[in-house]
Amino acid sequence: MANDCLFCKIISGDIPSTEVYSDDDIYAFRDINPAAPTHILVIPKKHLTDVKSAQAEDEALMGKLLLRANDIAQAEGLAEDGFRYIINTGKHGGQTVFHLHLHILGGRALGWPPG
Ligand code: 5GP
Ligand code: ZN
Repeated sequence: MANDCLFCKIISGDIPSTEVYSDDDIYAFRDINPAAPTHILVIPKKHLTDVKSAQAEDEALMGKLLLRANDIAQAEGLAEDGFRYIINTGKHGGQTVFHLHLHILGGRALGWPPG
């Protein structure tokens, strides 16, 4: 838990969120400002500032993040038509919350490339 981290406060329940999935290592919840019909954030419960902060000791956790996202995408009915995972990183990546999060976007066709 990092002080003054919005997503750590969401994990602890200090800030409410709409839970989609939770286990010992991973939490998933609906984005407050959805960019698509389905917009879910999947985060490690361990505070990592961004994806490039992950170390060798986080190898299993990073794998779990992706596999749980797959389970969630399937459960949300996104598997057939497809979806997109996004991990915004740093200034040019457009990251605004500095606790690693994987966006799941689905439910409509998404444009490419990003602006
Ligand atoms: P980023 O731009 O850092 O990749 O994504 C941050 C995401 O967190 C944004 O899509 C934003 O809508 C979402 N977000 C910011 N504050 C909150 C909040 O308090 N609750 C929820 N559920 N989502 C949030
Ligand atoms: Zn955090």
